[in-house]
Amino acid sequence: MIIDFHTHMYPEKIRERAMAAIPPPYRPAIDGSRAGLIRSMEINGIDLSLNLPLVNTPRNARGVNAWAQMENHGPIRMLGSLHPEDPAWKENLQWVCDQGMPGLKLHPEYQLFTFDDERFFPIWEACEEKGLFILTHAGFDICFQPPFKTDPEKLAAFHKRFPGLTLVLAHLGGMKMWDDVEKYLAGLPVYLDTAMIDENWITPEQMTRIIRKHGADRILFGSDSPWMDQGSSLRFLRSLDLTEKEKAAILGENAAGLLKIDC
Ligand SMILES: [Zn+2]
Repeated sequence: MIIDFHTHMYPEKIRERAMAAIPPPYRPAIDGSRAGLIRSMEINGIDLSLNLPLVNTPRNARGVNAWAQMENHGPIRMLGSLHPEDPAWKENLQWVCDQGMPGLKLHPEYQLFTFDDERFFPIWEACEEKGLFILTHAGFDICFQPPFKTDPEKLAAFHKRFPGLTLVLAHLGGMKMWDDVEKYLAGLPVYLDTAMIDENWITPEQMTRIIRKHGADRILFGSDSPWMDQGSSLRFLRSLDLTEKEKAAILGENAAGLLKIDC
């Protein structure tokens, strides 16, 4: 079973705007719709995609999560999301939990927060208590300028502050910060996804080294579709010098375990 743990799609009314938000020379690989994602999955032999919506401002929390719940069926599973500044975060967190969604997507650059802000510690404690994982953007982002709000060192400190909270760090824990990923994160009991990463961003040697040091059982295949083609992400991962057992774990087994899916 192949599971893409990091995809995006957009409600029809904002889809075109979302697609135009990416700065040149980057271009989306598909159109950002549910139908487009399903077509891409069929072409590339992907059985399930996890979609990551984002609550970009507190007032959108209910709308975004209700949309996520509506789309949470068939070959597409959804995470919920939460804005840390939301005065009604407790209620919204409980709602996501009651729908059976397994985790929350957060993006500190868009949501303008940092994980070392003590005001938000009760939120992370509640996630830990309810068994919801957090999937966060990590490192460089093509839409933002440095300094970035997350990096491998800061994320390692966050994990150490909340060791019982399941963390999934996108982009191997720090997009374009690969040496720091090796130094601070590789080997810690957190999950790293492979979203957006191919030979244009990292050498196959360093990617393989990070996966081996971290342990293939905590790496999750993710593409970042529509911003990256699912097929080329898959091809890059398959081309790495890893065993078939390691590849099977990365491409689906680890994700199935986190999402509690039989495969
Ligand atoms: Zn993404």
